[in-house]
Amino acid sequence: MKSTMEDVMENENEFLFLGGRPSLDLVNTLRGRNDHVLGKRDLVTTVAELQDWIAAADKQTEWFTLELPESSPTQGELSDAVALREAVHALAVEENGQDVQDPLDVINQLALAQPTPALARIDEGGEGDGEDSRGSRFTVTGGNGPTTVAQLVGFVAADAVNLFATVEGARIKECAQPRCGMVFVDSSRGNRRRWCSMATCGNRAKVKRFDDRARAAAQE
Ligand SMILES: [Zn+2]
Repeated sequence: MKSTMEDVMENENEFLFLGGRPSLDLVNTLRGRNDHVLGKRDLVTTVAELQDWIAAADKQTEWFTLELPESSPTQGELSDAVALREAVHALAVEENGQDVQDPLDVINQLALAQPTPALARIDEGGEGDGEDSRGSRFTVTGGNGPTTVAQLVGFVAADAVNLFATVEGARIKECAQPRCGMVFVDSSRGNRRRWCSMATCGNRAKVKRFDDRARAAAQE
């Protein structure tokens, strides 16, 4: 059986989307925040890595409904994304002011760059056959998804604004595996989710309980 310490680090270099919100998944790109053994592992240190994260998010989540940025991130956009990440983390774990100055200001400022929201207007019929296949009376305009990286960072910042302003903000948890440090919104019934993932940290805890019991039994 693998040691529970070693396999804490599987998936270490993969982007994971377990937070339930874009802003928390951004936070989780700094892995092992509480890992005093191996230290932190930052998966977004270069513009190429930020671009990889955006691509991975697009593939594995449904956040970005329309186009992705065509240009690659600039150094400034990378700094903004990292500043946003640490501001969200500071608020998520209620460490206001410890590592990040004015985290709310950082989030609010970056949220200003969010893409135009989608707006509905009544479809006047016009030339088309008003009875389209869905029979909707409305047309949606705007909502042009992130088209620049700055807008995408703005989108994630706006997600943080909405997260902290609603009841979901009270359901943010840190994984119960002490070295993990990943954060997520617990949307389970009864608020009972403890792990970033059952497949990794949850399973590890189960194995550890089993080992502890076996050891205790062997000593009897
Ligand atoms: Zn975990």
